[in-house]
Amino acid sequence: MPGVTCQKLMSKAHDMSVPVIAIDGPTASGKGTLARRLATAYGFDWLDTGLLYRAVGLAVLDGGADPLDANAASAAASALGHAPDLTDPRLRLDTAAVAASKVAAVPAVRAALLRLQRDFAANPPSGAGAVLDGRDIGTVVCPDAAAKLFVTADVEVRATRRWKELQGRGFTVIYESVLDDLKQRDARDSQRAIAPLKPADGAFLLDFTSLDADSAFAHAISLVEPVLGRAG
Ligand code: C5P
Repeated sequence: MPGVTCQKLMSKAHDMSVPVIAIDGPTASGKGTLARRLATAYGFDWLDTGLLYRAVGLAVLDGGADPLDANAASAAASALGHAPDLTDPRLRLDTAAVAASKVAAVPAVRAALLRLQRDFAANPPSGAGAVLDGRDIGTVVCPDAAAKLFVTADVEVRATRRWKELQGRGFTVIYESVLDDLKQRDARDSQRAIAPLKPADGAFLLDFTSLDADSAFAHAISLVEPVLGRAG
């Protein structure tokens, strides 16, 4: 389920600054589920920022270009506009994810998406607050977020979760290729020159390797609650 619809990205302006929860972490770490649950708990709006990069990657593929082609990637990012359609089910496919992690290394792509993400954080549709999850939310997009979380889990645990998820959706996939794909995306995300994946200053570090979703949520709430209390 996408975090926001295109209409919601076109939110009206709010004058007062609202609390933001910034969540970063590698693929399949559990950050998306955590972001959704925190947004629900606080009545905030959630933006899954990976979907924006996936939308750019998919647009490049649809145009028949190579996601590593910086010109094609920046043209696709500019063409995304202020109200990208984040509801296309193809955004969930691994082809979109791999293309996303390639276009994400292009500075012009990141600059175009930065504006969209900051607009959302400053003016979430509810006006109550925003949860953004991605790779550079605490470091680049919202360094002044009220609460910053960095979620990790062992790569084998993440690959197993991802493999089961894909199987559940009816895909026949080999575990080793899922693991290999995750390792390649981790390397691209953490070694790129611009906005690499890393914990932000002041971020809470959460290791979800041996926590189920409920325990992970409870742990995150125990960290976020006092900080949000102070921010409010
Ligand atoms: O989170 P998700 O797996 O959907 O992200 C797809 C890709 O988009 C990531 O591998 C990463 O390269 C890129 N991304 C990013 N910065 C973000 C969100 C996603 O570079 N804030």
